[in-house]
Amino acid sequence: MESQDIVVFIIRRDSQCSVCGKELWRGSFLRLEKEKALCLACAGLDHLEYLSSGDAALTRRAIKNSKIHAKVVRWSATRKRYERQGILAEPAAIDQAEKENEADAVLRKARREGARDRRIKADQQYIVAFTKKILELFPGCPEAAQIARHACELYSGRVGRSGDAKSLDPEVILLAVRAHVRHVHTSYDDLIGKGWEPGEARRAVRDRVEEILNRWRAAAEKRGRA
Ligand SMILES: [Zn+2]
Repeated sequence: MESQDIVVFIIRRDSQCSVCGKELWRGSFLRLEKEKALCLACAGLDHLEYLSSGDAALTRRAIKNSKIHAKVVRWSATRKRYERQGILAEPAAIDQAEKENEADAVLRKARREGARDRRIKADQQYIVAFTKKILELFPGCPEAAQIARHACELYSGRVGRSGDAKSLDPEVILLAVRAHVRHVHTSYDDLIGKGWEPGEARRAVRDRVEEILNRWRAAAEKRGRA
């Protein structure tokens, strides 16, 4: 009947239970009933255990598991209001709540790890698919896997990236391979280092890039004819 919203005060001055006369020191719990101050024993709450606020999930679960609970408040002199400090709940209910919290943490950890595993798997699948696409267009390319891994890093984290057919578009493959050739097989990076404009440097190495791309493409034709 009175399991809802029982309020217990943490007292700021020494007091006394009006039923049993027990001394209630500053900092102890007290329940007011019809203007009378009661110790927890006389209020029928001394079987409950204190759980201080701080972990909202733990508090919520302890309340849910406990047949009876009380809110514990203390008067704040600075804020001029009662402030919630915690709850009183059945010890078994608090134990149970702690177990549920731990189980929850284990579950969350497993979910996080599962998500990470799925991401790694998606990345691997993407690298394989990207490598295959490169080799379709450039069968002579000896660095397809390396280019694919780099592309995977570039696109990493983009929504739907691994399943995105667009990112395996021939145009995207060509751009990735061309950029790789420019950086790895030409003096492009040196020119940039010397202060060349990117457009200027790109034009300077263009023939070299195309030459290599054609060589990597040509392997396809050779194999096609074979
Ligand atoms: Zn008492």
